[in-house]
Amino acid sequence: MPTYTFRCADCGEYDLSRPMAEAGDPAPCPTCAGDSRRVFGSPGLRKLDPTLRRALDASGRSSDAPAVVNSVPGRSRVAFPTSTDPRHARLPRP
Ligand SMILES: [Zn+2]
Repeated sequence: MPTYTFRCADCGEYDLSRPMAEAGDPAPCPTCAGDSRRVFGSPGLRKLDPTLRRALDASGRSSDAPAVVNSVPGRSRVAFPTSTDPRHARLPRP
């Protein structure tokens, strides 16, 4: 039986295991017995490794508005290697 997250207006969120056929039905809050609605979210992401969760969050954010970066993440901080050949210093600069 899958576990769904429900939110009570007074008590907050809680997890509840129930049949899939009853997933969308209001559930009674275990604390105050009031009606609570299902919270739709990404299933199982709470138990992910924090590093993986941050990577997934960053991926989700960049799908709408990609970040501008100056170098490839995870690589050396030097974006372009510099030449030590003195002939390269005489080349025209942009
Ligand atoms: Zn409640």
